[in-house]
Amino acid sequence: MRNCKEITQLISEGLDRRLSFWQQVGLRLHLMMCGACAAYRRQVTALNKLISARFGESGPAGPHLLSGEARQRIKAALRDHTH
Ligand SMILES: [Zn+2]
Repeated sequence: MRNCKEITQLISEGLDRRLSFWQQVGLRLHLMMCGACAAYRRQVTALNKLISARFGESGPAGPHLLSGEARQRIKAALRDHTH
């Protein structure tokens, strides 16, 4: 069974590229049992949609131009905003 660290990595990877069949199966099985990872997935999926909506005008490659650091900054800004 995969652990939470692997799962959160898979979730991030899944935003940038298609996961293999078995990666998706492992991911889904884990999400059914683990509320923390399910919540994490909801957050990053919502975040990714937001980023795509904001930067997506430049084409399909738009969101991928964002560096990891930029995503972290946006995440931090969202976190501050919700508090
Ligand atoms: Zn987990």
